[in-house]
Amino acid sequence: MNQKERIEQLFETGILPKEEMRALIEERDEESSEELFVKARIRKEENFGKDIYLRGLIEFSSYCRNDCFYCGLRRSNTKAQRYHLSKEDILTCARQGYALGFRTIVLQSGEDLSYSDEEIADIVRSIKKEMPETAVTLSIGEKTYEQYLLYYKAGADRYLLRHETADPVHYAKLHPSDLSFENRKRCLYDLKKIGYQVGAGMMVEAPFQTLDNLVEDLFFLKELQPHMIGTGPFIAHKDTPFKDMPSGGSELTIFLLGILRLMFPKVLLPATTALGTIDPYGREKGIMAGANVIMPNLSPKNVRGKYMLYDGKISTGEEAAESIEKIRKRMEAIGCHVKNVRGDAPGMGPENRQ
Ligand code: SF4
Repeated sequence: MNQKERIEQLFETGILPKEEMRALIEERDEESSEELFVKARIRKEENFGKDIYLRGLIEFSSYCRNDCFYCGLRRSNTKAQRYHLSKEDILTCARQGYALGFRTIVLQSGEDLSYSDEEIADIVRSIKKEMPETAVTLSIGEKTYEQYLLYYKAGADRYLLRHETADPVHYAKLHPSDLSFENRKRCLYDLKKIGYQVGAGMMVEAPFQTLDNLVEDLFFLKELQPHMIGTGPFIAHKDTPFKDMPSGGSELTIFLLGILRLMFPKVLLPATTALGTIDPYGREKGIMAGANVIMPNLSPKNVRGKYMLYDGKISTGEEAAESIEKIRKRMEAIGCHVKNVRGDAPGMGPENRQ
């Protein structure tokens, strides 16, 4: 097959044989990228029109018990600035987001054991009680089925847990031995079983990643059928074991966004902060390649610079929720419209909750 035929088949059927998928990525060039993005926009617009959904991100704790080799929040990083927000602080951020028009709040943190499960459930419950039309997304790491169920019963709607890489051998090169792909996978399937809208996704151009790893990621996602896929380039952090590893660029991530949109026409696909960090127009390019979600930061200004997953992470200017008007204008400039709605995955709105 040539690139044109591969893209046509992917557009028509949502899948390609593994070797053709590999070749599609390997042989990408400007022409095939543009063809892919045109098709990806068709699929996006069939399902979401020109709408862009916003998520207000509250990074409520920079403590983490884990030691992932790529992450600036890893517990061994003694230079990381640690903070955790109180329930009141979190609610204040959520209220500000609500006033700005956000109808999805994402509560993200390292795996910080200082919050009890009941405290997390209470925070979720309080947001839902005060702002019932707001969806709450949690992104707080690997937990047991019972913990996930407790948060769901408290009202959490969605859960983000990137799988990072679907190859257990590659996984072991990015994480210490107490973390495994097997458990990550178990978590993702538990979340789906409970009824969450589930987000997974891989790190692109991660250290030691091969093209075959990326193909495995795509096929793992096909099997999992997540409702959201968050994917962005690896960016090295200076106080981690991967400090000297080369950071990824935006081009491959954006190409993969196009593939993901054709594989998953209805998926919620963010143009991630990492993409916007590595390329000043990364998010616009991501949207033009099929993405339909943007996640501005709602964390209090005094802690934003401390949630340093990787170097240079954008947290001011357009990234700040206060600049929401600027984001709206940037999206209008590429023919899209920011919508003040929950923006659920199709068929997964509040009326479908179990
Ligand atoms: S990637 Fe997540 S779990 Fe791993 S060290 Fe960073 S915050 Fe912790």
